[in-house]
Amino acid sequence: ARSQGSGHFCFARSDLAARADRRLAIEQELRLALERNELVVFYQPQVDLRDGAFIGAEALVRWIHPSRGLVGPMEFIDVAEDVGLIDQLGSYVLQSVAAQLAAWGRKGLYPKVAVNVSASQCMQPDFCSGIFDVLSKSGVPTTSLQIELTESVAMRDPVRTARELAPLRAAGVRLAIDDFGTGYSNLATITRLPFDVLKIDRSFVSECVRDGASRVVVATILSMAQNLGYQTVAEGVETELQREFLLRYGCTFAQGYLFGKPMPAPEFEAAFIEQRRI
Ligand code: C2E
Ligand code: CA
Ligand code: CA
Ligand code: CA
Repeated sequence: ARSQGSGHFCFARSDLAARADRRLAIEQELRLALERNELVVFYQPQVDLRDGAFIGAEALVRWIHPSRGLVGPMEFIDVAEDVGLIDQLGSYVLQSVAAQLAAWGRKGLYPKVAVNVSASQCMQPDFCSGIFDVLSKSGVPTTSLQIELTESVAMRDPVRTARELAPLRAAGVRLAIDDFGTGYSNLATITRLPFDVLKIDRSFVSECVRDGASRVVVATILSMAQNLGYQTVAEGVETELQREFLLRYGCTFAQGYLFGKPMPAPEFEAAFIEQRRI
């Protein structure tokens, strides 16, 4: 038992060390990646569930790594947050989206694009003015932008969140709570925050046809959202059965592989032209 114990300890230590190594490597490479513009924004369609029309997209960052190829955000967002690179990454994404929206506007295309914002970003004193700045410099209407904050981030300091976000919403930027249903929120508090949209977490959506409990969670969120006047976006819709269920229970918008994976801007542009509501 003793040797097992020490073996386990050794394993745990090297595991920790390996993780520290990984973080250090990612940190150093990520700094370079930001300088070298190796990060790109992909766009995943958001559709109206009733007719499948494309409304816009969620902007999802990717890393075109020189040797590892396309790297997803799950591999580096947490490190960026921990080492203080997330603000730089966040403003890079925001500027890239604004430039893209401006380019689309020049072609008469006006998709609404949702951008993910992490805790430290929205706690910056100049968070709001930074967004207004980027939008006005690129001539993008505020109504083209949606900001997504996870439920846990929004609820960390609800009073401050409400105060920080109010000017954005007043100017027409739409505010969404991401991963809704995963954060054990106090509903009374949520309703006092200036949000327009609830995004139902994929973990419930992907099980809503198979699993009774998930079905109840989704149905309950949808009915609550309707009664409180929120728009709803179901995340991770992959099947026709899920689409039918969500539609029947009054979900307004959806996102998921059924409608389109995250894709490079030119591909999204072509799909949007094809499938937007005229
Ligand atoms: P999220 O905001 O919840 O984004 C949705 C994730 O679900 C995306 O993963 C998307 O590719 C994936 N997804 C969408 N539809 C489906 C589906 O039908 N099936 C399955 N299996 N997955 C689906 P992705 O792109 O890997 O992003 C992961 C997370 O990274 C995001 O989760 C978000 O929290 C974070 N993230 C991405 N871009 C940014 C960014 O620019 N800034 C910040 N702060 N976080 C970001
Ligand atoms: Ca999101
Ligand atoms: Ca989400
Ligand atoms: Ca998520």
